Amino acid sequence: MKKTVITVAAIFVVAAAGYAGYLYFGAGTQAATWASACGFEGCDYRGNVNLKPGDPYPPTCPKCNRQGVLPLAKCPKCGNMQVLDELRRTLPGQEKLPEHTACKNCGGPIRHGD
Ligand SMILES: [Zn+2]
Ligand SMILES: [Zn+2]
Repeated sequence: MKKTVITVAAIFVVAAAGYAGYLYFGAGTQAATWASACGFEGCDYRGNVNLKPGDPYPPTCPKCNRQGVLPLAKCPKCGNMQVLDELRRTLPGQEKLPEHTACKNCGGPIRHGD
């Protein structure tokens, strides 16, 4: 019984991550290259990812092999690039991350669309 609940929760997390990406990148009808980084704690991968329509989202990290490469957002204050916590928290095991992102460099807020 408990196992079923966990499975459903896992499917929901994957679906939520996919949906967040869908919203973030628009309708996804064109291939896109984005400056991105691995959203998993403990992995420092950064690079440009080429995403084609139909590719799994999020893309698999070439460094840690987990599906967690997310787009970088720019801090409006200092220009620092980092992955938004609201996207990172859609990855498995990272649900406790804050809903809003604080810049690791200057501490200012970074929001989607800035
Ligand atoms: Zn990684
Ligand atoms: Zn900043």
